[in-house]
Amino acid sequence: MSPVETLPAINPIDFSLSTQATRLQETWPTTFNDFYTRNNQTDVHASTGDIIFPSLPPLHQGHPDVHLRNGIMSSMRSAEDHEPDSEKAFFVADLSQVFHQHMRWRANLPEIQPFYAVKCNPDPYVIRLLAALGAGFDCASLNEIGKVLDVGGIDASRIIFANPCKAVSFIRNAANKGVNLMTFDNADELYKVKRANPKAKLSLCAFGIKFGAPLNVVPSLLAKAKELELEVVGVSFHVGSGCYDPSVYTDAVHRSRKVFDMGKQAGYDFTLLDVGGGFEDALFEQAAMYLNKAINLYFPDRQNLKLIAEPGRFYVSKAFKLAAHIIARRAPLPDPSKPAEEAAAKVEEDADQPKVMYYINDGVYGAFNCILFDHQVIHPYVLSMNNSFHISASEPKGVASVWGPTCDSIDCVSPKTVLPERLQVGDWLGFDNMGAYTVCAASQFNGFDVSNVIYTSGGMGSAEVKDVLEDFAAQGHGL
Ligand SMILES: *Cc1c(COP(=O)(O)O)cnc(C)c1O
Repeated sequence: MSPVETLPAINPIDFSLSTQATRLQETWPTTFNDFYTRNNQTDVHASTGDIIFPSLPPLHQGHPDVHLRNGIMSSMRSAEDHEPDSEKAFFVADLSQVFHQHMRWRANLPEIQPFYAVKCNPDPYVIRLLAALGAGFDCASLNEIGKVLDVGGIDASRIIFANPCKAVSFIRNAANKGVNLMTFDNADELYKVKRANPKAKLSLCAFGIKFGAPLNVVPSLLAKAKELELEVVGVSFHVGSGCYDPSVYTDAVHRSRKVFDMGKQAGYDFTLLDVGGGFEDALFEQAAMYLNKAINLYFPDRQNLKLIAEPGRFYVSKAFKLAAHIIARRAPLPDPSKPAEEAAAKVEEDADQPKVMYYINDGVYGAFNCILFDHQVIHPYVLSMNNSFHISASEPKGVASVWGPTCDSIDCVSPKTVLPERLQVGDWLGFDNMGAYTVCAASQFNGFDVSNVIYTSGGMGSAEVKDVLEDFAAQGHGL
């Protein structure tokens, strides 16, 4: 880790705690106190939420930003009461966003049934909402299968065990739970399936990077499956997570057509095409267009064809926001290998280099593991500063870096970003698009435990989300 220096107690960039700042503060409309009083009067935002599923935290309504503020308020209050861990980072999940994505899916890919990739975010509310909306589930492990089936109301036929390399015990246990649809990409897997679940319906996972059989081995694999009298029902592909070139779907569907034809040669009549995941929010419509075109071109006759997909990030990425508390800050020391004056001069002229390191109470070992494992780029913004939610646009800003709480130098949340210069310990940063491949397991609600996820059915579309979930619960599911 690079050498660092603690900032002086009164940081030069904080000299503005002087007259001007104080005057400004008096006129700021949204101090915490204002906000608190106002919300207590208008109740909806400060309400305790609805208990729809007794095993889960309550479901609030209203815009997620309001709940970010509420979360900060309640965290500040419990800090005043000296509760341990009171200022930990927390998520706000907007379920109307998940709902909206589902509508978008149905509008653009009406023929393709989504099987939500649970590994992306196994959040219990997300699973319940998608179950209620009729989605299927792509599970990569026995644990995920259990999580989905335990909800209730989800038939095992709505699950695809989409991991082409499974332990034998997993295959057997999944079979005991009624999960028979699974992917494979090698001959060993066929022998395992033959032993553990000879009635399985297999989808050939083709042409990926980590997984997926290359086209030239497909004929021999299919011959082996036939020899073992296994039922191969179709083809699965996955263009890879975070696909930024939607035209890859054209090629993948084209190659799938070839695998279908190889299937015919081997004596199979495939009925399933699984187009995998990797749908990026911003490119979704474009990807859908390529997919629809390719499917029309290569699979014009779809009488006996079932189309499914395994979207993960598409459903949840935007639905979760994170609030994290600034626990420390320091100024980076100049490079020790350079003479002090030279380095100081360098820092002076290099306005581009971070001048302050902020430390927050969550990092790449927690919510931000998406940085390590999913190569996401994180953009923080200020949620609250100096006890106010109002951040004036004219605030002087500077280049800073943001770090997680561990001593590990890899624990960097944002190596270079622009933040107000007056930002200090106790202020809160916000992070959007934190729903995919982050850690946000909600603690079980027991009346005492504070959940680290605040759920809202959202501002718009709130009533629909609530109706869907209440219906699901009324049928006895998800409780
Ligand atoms: C991870 C994964 C997905 C989901 O990918 P996203 O990029 O989140 O859509 C789908 N299918 C398979 C096989 C996966 O491994």
